[in-house]
Amino acid sequence: RPLLEVTDLVKHYAVRGGVLRRQIGTVHAVDGVSFALGTGETLGLVGESGCGKSTVARTVLRLVEPTSGAIKLDGEDIAPLSKTALRPYRRSMQIVFQDPFASLNPRMTAGDIVGEPLTVHGLATGAKKQERVAELFQQVGLRPDQMKNFPHQFSGGQRQRICIARALSLGPRLIVCDEPVSALDVSIQAQVINLLIDLQRKQNFSYLFIAHDLAVVAHISHRVAVMYLGRIVEIADKRELFANP
Ligand code: ADP
Ligand code: ADP
Repeated sequence: RPLLEVTDLVKHYAVRGGVLRRQIGTVHAVDGVSFALGTGETLGLVGESGCGKSTVARTVLRLVEPTSGAIKLDGEDIAPLSKTALRPYRRSMQIVFQDPFASLNPRMTAGDIVGEPLTVHGLATGAKKQERVAELFQQVGLRPDQMKNFPHQFSGGQRQRICIARALSLGPRLIVCDEPVSALDVSIQAQVINLLIDLQRKQNFSYLFIAHDLAVVAHISHRVAVMYLGRIVEIADKRELFANP
């Protein structure tokens, strides 16, 4: 059974306008998307800007409410669940965004940022939490003594490592990466991608990986789904991608 099975996912956004902010239209951002993702597998999601990649990713995590369709995690459809019923599933699904600076609280130390999910879910406090955070820092190639530093004291690549450590903190089954290296210098991109690949080998979670750079996507993905106007128009195996450049 796949870890994630998405069936006929639809997301329509209401567009409001005019003086009274009435609904003046609908954007069919995602229009019947289906795919499956195995444990330890990476599915790349590519397509031109506006084709619906982020909406698919955010809907799968229920950060955006689906209009219709099923989102099965380990066979359980999480699409109709209430926020409360969803809580246990939230722990197993994490997201890493494009801009690591924007998603880090500038007033929190890196250690507190990485440890925050542990606190929120009541999993560790005090010395036990510090120990776990130090371990996460090492896993992503940061030094434990950097835990006391603030986001602005890190480089762009290091900030993305902080985001990755936070995403790993609860032992996720699925990590959604929404353009995780697009904001980084080209020289740093490969380091972060290789870290992501290495972490998956050791911890066996799955990635749904969005990027516009096909070279990046093809390197990390086992299969690549191509989106066009809200639909998946092709799912190609990695071998096929390299055979047909
Ligand atoms: P991509 O990630 O491929 O660039 P998105 O999922 O961000 O695509 O957007 C798909 C479509 O949905 C675009 O036309 C976009 O403008 C629209 N869209 C995204 N978010 C919203 C929103 N909150 N309200 C209205 N339209 C939106
Ligand atoms: P990206 O495609 O990289 O996700 P966007 O600039 O398309 O970035 O979207 C940034 C944010 O704005 C997202 O949260 C998205 O949902 C929202 N958004 C995008 N398009 C629209 C839109 N037409 N109306 C309202 N919100 C939108």
